Amino acid sequence: MQNSDPRGLYAVIGVSPVATAEEIKNAFRRRAKETHPDTSSNPSATLFQQVNAAYKILSDPEARAEYDSSGYQASAEEVRHKQLDPVCCSRCKQATAQPRYVVFRRVYSFILATIRTPVQGIFCASCARKEAFRSSLITMCTGWWGVPWGPIYTIGVILGNGFGGEYSKEAEERLTWYNCLAFLSRGNVDLAYSLAQMSRKASDPEISSRATELSRELEKTGVDPKRSRLKNPWNFGLVERLKHLAMVAAVPLVVAGIFMQDQIASWWTGRPVPRPSYTSTYTPPPRTTKAVPAKIVPVTNACSTRPRNGDALDGYGNAISSQGHVLEIRNGSGGPAIVKVRDSFSNRTIASFYISDNAAAEYPGIPDGSYRIQYAVGDELRSDCRSFFNTAAVGQFPNVERLQTERTSTQIITQHLTYTLYAVASGNVRPQSLSMEAFDAP
Ligand SMILES: [Zn+2]
Repeated sequence: MQNSDPRGLYAVIGVSPVATAEEIKNAFRRRAKETHPDTSSNPSATLFQQVNAAYKILSDPEARAEYDSSGYQASAEEVRHKQLDPVCCSRCKQATAQPRYVVFRRVYSFILATIRTPVQGIFCASCARKEAFRSSLITMCTGWWGVPWGPIYTIGVILGNGFGGEYSKEAEERLTWYNCLAFLSRGNVDLAYSLAQMSRKASDPEISSRATELSRELEKTGVDPKRSRLKNPWNFGLVERLKHLAMVAAVPLVVAGIFMQDQIASWWTGRPVPRPSYTSTYTPPPRTTKAVPAKIVPVTNACSTRPRNGDALDGYGNAISSQGHVLEIRNGSGGPAIVKVRDSFSNRTIASFYISDNAAAEYPGIPDGSYRIQYAVGDELRSDCRSFFNTAAVGQFPNVERLQTERTSTQIITQHLTYTLYAVASGNVRPQSLSMEAFDAP
């Protein structure tokens, strides 16, 4: 006899057999409160135990599937004496020859919380496809956004739904065998025979032996074994799986698209990705005509090996590597310049360079950090080769440059800073003056 609540577990909790996992959970909490000695005015230890025992089965998707399908049992007596209703799909309520008890899942995430909820029941193949799609779609929208399980569960659940969900072979065999008897009781012998043939392979020895026996009996009555073979409606097929694969890929693709707009635009237009670029220019004060000409400086105290344009000065430059942000200095100040890159937090010099007059140099390896750029413009270098005899201007650019490498899946984006030292008033930055002591500090 078909019974959707064979041991009354749903009734104990107070829900219908088609209740969702969420409804069962809520009803269980209510019933537990109503019967527990601490929270109820009318407690019942027996009832409380029953409620708990029922919830233990109904909250576990596998145990619930087992319980639901156990209601489909028919005795030989029943088949002989009355008509049985074939199993109906829990969604469309239509009788279905080859039902399946399936558990699909949905994932809901919110920041640190991720939950997987089962959606289960007896399905016809067509309703199962729809439910698989709906559950995957909901998961696609709500599943990703939890750390760390959101993405992991989402991918697993959508793929699982796409491959037909979880189902128990035993429950399916029981439903098929029940249906075989139901169709037999209604005189649909061909269909009953086909289902009996399927049930012969059942893992339950009782079902398989009864099905074998019934098949033989039906063959004797003249059923055509060839005509009554059933097609398997449960092949989810390639198209169905591709739909779910697309749902797995959709959100990561959209997110990647948002973060890689520049790259995508560059593939599209063929133009290179623009690198962020800043230009600061500077005007030192006019050089005094009273500056001591270099030629009267005693040669013995002068730098013996004058650095070439772009050279890193002694003792600095260790922090500079071949990869990093680019610092470009253009020197139009009218004299050679020493440029220092100073860490804005520790105030230590991380690099110092010599730029010849009317020349430019590029340093490609500035590491991530916050820096101030300082300069001194002079003429002849002293014997230490890192300071001038006569300094025409000392200063620093007012802004602290924060250099941060951005990494995307395909590119590492660094920054390119350009500073220009001008002799005459122009440029967009007003430099700050600096004492020689501050500039000389290590
Ligand atoms: Zn259906």
